[in-house]
Amino acid sequence: MAKSFREILQQTRQEIREVDPQTAADLIRKGWKALDVRTDEEYSQGALPSAVHIDRGFLESRVEDVLPDRSEPIVVYCAGGVRSAFAAKTLQELGYEQVVSMSGGFNAWKDAGLEWKTPRVLTADQRNRYHRHILLPEVGTEGQVKLLESSVLLLGAGGLGSPAALYLAAAGVGKIGVVDYDVVDSSNLQRQILHNEERVGTLKVESARETITKLNPDVEVLTYNTRLDSSNVLDIISKYDVIVDGTDNFPTRYLLNDASVMLGRPVVHGSIFRFEGQVSVFWPGKGPCYRCLYHVPPPPELAPSCAEAGVLGVLPGIIGSLQAMEAIKILLGLGDPLIGRLLVYDALEATFRTLKLRRDPACPTCSEGAEITLVDYDEYCLPGNGGHGRSAAGRVDARAKESAGSGQPASSDGAPAPNAAGESTGASVSAV
Ligand SMILES: [Zn+2]
Repeated sequence: MAKSFREILQQTRQEIREVDPQTAADLIRKGWKALDVRTDEEYSQGALPSAVHIDRGFLESRVEDVLPDRSEPIVVYCAGGVRSAFAAKTLQELGYEQVVSMSGGFNAWKDAGLEWKTPRVLTADQRNRYHRHILLPEVGTEGQVKLLESSVLLLGAGGLGSPAALYLAAAGVGKIGVVDYDVVDSSNLQRQILHNEERVGTLKVESARETITKLNPDVEVLTYNTRLDSSNVLDIISKYDVIVDGTDNFPTRYLLNDASVMLGRPVVHGSIFRFEGQVSVFWPGKGPCYRCLYHVPPPPELAPSCAEAGVLGVLPGIIGSLQAMEAIKILLGLGDPLIGRLLVYDALEATFRTLKLRRDPACPTCSEGAEITLVDYDEYCLPGNGGHGRSAAGRVDARAKESAGSGQPASSDGAPAPNAAGESTGASVSAV
């Protein structure tokens, strides 16, 4: 004989365990996972602070992706305790070992005066825009919300910063800062795809803002038309979760390194030279810093960033894209970022190699007890003017910018060259 709804509910309740909101709160405090099975609309109005959300209608198809560990104990809840009772039974049938349903649901939770939040949710437009991210169980809605709440600082809106900015913006990183004190030059357009013919002569940071905003209005763009120096570096980088280094000169690279160690900020390093590019992640406390590899910058006369060198325009596109990927991995806690590893791309051979980078226990910046003083290596890279500083009209020769890339820890078979300190770590330096 067919059963009524009431009978089915009653039978279901006998097959599961129910707890009141106070007990549920105690369990969640002990590490039980809170699972909200209400609709998107209900969830967006308010939910338990640590809840993960799967609409009851998608529970069977999605739960294994969201909660892959079947031994993890779960408190499931809905608005009043009915949908969660059925959900608890389903979870048991799917092999989840410890499941309880919260009687009275979210309404009873609120009535009991327990803590709740209004979760940040995606709008319908955002769910559509980031659909291919959300489909990835490793990202999902939660990861996308995290990206929207994240911030990345781009040092340089040039060859590396351009692709990084575009992909980070497209991915929905909510706040992107851009530091650059240069203007768009037509010779930039061979590789700096943030800019275009119409913007020649305008500030790169403004051009970047315009491009990013047109691509994705979800992104807040903050611009810094300034040269990074010891007086502003801490203030600027402290506002961001991850720094993407697309700079082209030693003074900034060393200054950034030291400041990022002081603040514990991860730096995604990228550099290019002719047909070769390199990427690494310097994350203070988790791996080596830049000074672990080269204690001090090379002497100015050997600093390759002062020279004009060619680069194939696609190369920074590839390296900057890799930097964007590493930044997103860091923001979402995905996979293995390039900490302690240098990825070397040889475009002519079409090969990638990975070199191990080691932390130097005697590093002047990140070793135990090291005292960090921020230094402006202003004497470096001063093409012909002998005094480039913040006051010096705010730009170096645009063509000298970004030609760098060398003087990096490079491939082990690269020409050993301008390593001023002579100390090294098995990685040598490629010469101009
Ligand atoms: Zn170090």
